[in-house]
Amino acid sequence: MGKTFDVLIVGAGMSGLIAARELVATGRSVCVVDKGHGVGGRVATRRIADATFDHGAQFFTARDPRFLSVVEQWVAEGVAAEWFRSSRSTGNPRFRGTPTMTSIAKSLAVGLDVVLSTRVESIRRVGDDGRAAWRVRFADGTEVESGAVILTPPVPQSLEILRAGDVTIDTQTRLVLETIEYAPCIAVMAILDGPSRIDPPGGLTPKADDRTFPISWVADNREKGVSGVDAVTIHASAAFSRENLQREPKDLADALLSVASPWLGSDVVEHQLHVWRYARPTRFLDVGCVAVCDSPALVFAGDAFLGARLEAAVLSGWAAAGACAG
Ligand SMILES: Cc1cc2nc3c(=O)[nH]c(=O)nc-3n(C[C@H](O)[C@H](O)[C@H](O)COP(=O)(O)OP(=O)(O)OC[C@H]3O[C@@H](n4cnc5c(N)ncnc54)[C@H](O)[C@@H]3O)c2cc1C
Repeated sequence: MGKTFDVLIVGAGMSGLIAARELVATGRSVCVVDKGHGVGGRVATRRIADATFDHGAQFFTARDPRFLSVVEQWVAEGVAAEWFRSSRSTGNPRFRGTPTMTSIAKSLAVGLDVVLSTRVESIRRVGDDGRAAWRVRFADGTEVESGAVILTPPVPQSLEILRAGDVTIDTQTRLVLETIEYAPCIAVMAILDGPSRIDPPGGLTPKADDRTFPISWVADNREKGVSGVDAVTIHASAAFSRENLQREPKDLADALLSVASPWLGSDVVEHQLHVWRYARPTRFLDVGCVAVCDSPALVFAGDAFLGARLEAAVLSGWAAAGACAG
């Protein structure tokens, strides 16, 4: 650190990595910084003992022609594959990362300057108008300067980074950004002592017609090809997650494992819980990104723009790169 970059990107999720690749391809010096220990953000994989779990995004769809061609490339490279097709008449393919969802993010990060385990605390505008830049401060007190910044964390967290550096943005834009809302998701990862009762392809929405049911998704990571041993991911519904966020992790895990028992079919030998506080935007903006400052460029991106899907994060990453390159 202690350097100067053309563009600093906060977040090594899909949006940040895609933006970085796009900008590097145009010759910009780019640094991607993430507070997490690995790349991928909400596209996440965790190992517990001999088991492996996709515990964030489970699959993705592709509608945009440019994104479809990138997905074809990922499939050709062996980092993604079609998992199953929707049972609806459209029969749209659901893709997964191979062997895990994070394989895609790891392959996007190859060759990029990615700094992990580093939290961005604030950004501050420095220099006069002709040579203005952003001074980015990390949690350990070190700083770098960048000609442009792209913020891809969930929007409330990005706004906090601006507040910490006393960056004021146009009131109307701030109010629009503050309308973005997210639902949390409580995830339980459970190692089983035998096969689950989740049929191929290995993922389903239990009681899909009952919106009050506490579980929105169960997946058998072994059946999916993610884990070498029997390992199930359980996602609580948005309503259950919202209402139970404050409960003790042990109580929560017990409650969700009990509701999921018809699909488990074997005893749980070990489990862990993960809370996604900002799992998916429930209210998002229908634009690819929002530039809150043109010079030096400061751009908000991520799945809060265009939708609660991996594809939206990618499209937003491209839009943010365009906003910085322009
Ligand atoms: C439980 C769950 C299930 C999902 N299921 C699906 C699905 O089936 N299909 C689908 O298409 N989508 C799904 N999604 C949504 C999908 O994962 C997201 O839309 C997408 O991954 C968002 O990518 P992003 O780059 O916008 O944000 P993120 O992946 O959140 O990336 C932002 C990054 O910023 C980092 N960060 C935050 N603050 C700081 C800071 N101060 N300093 C440094 N770094 C910071 C974070 O660590 C993170 O890595 C799911 C999400 C969750 C949580």
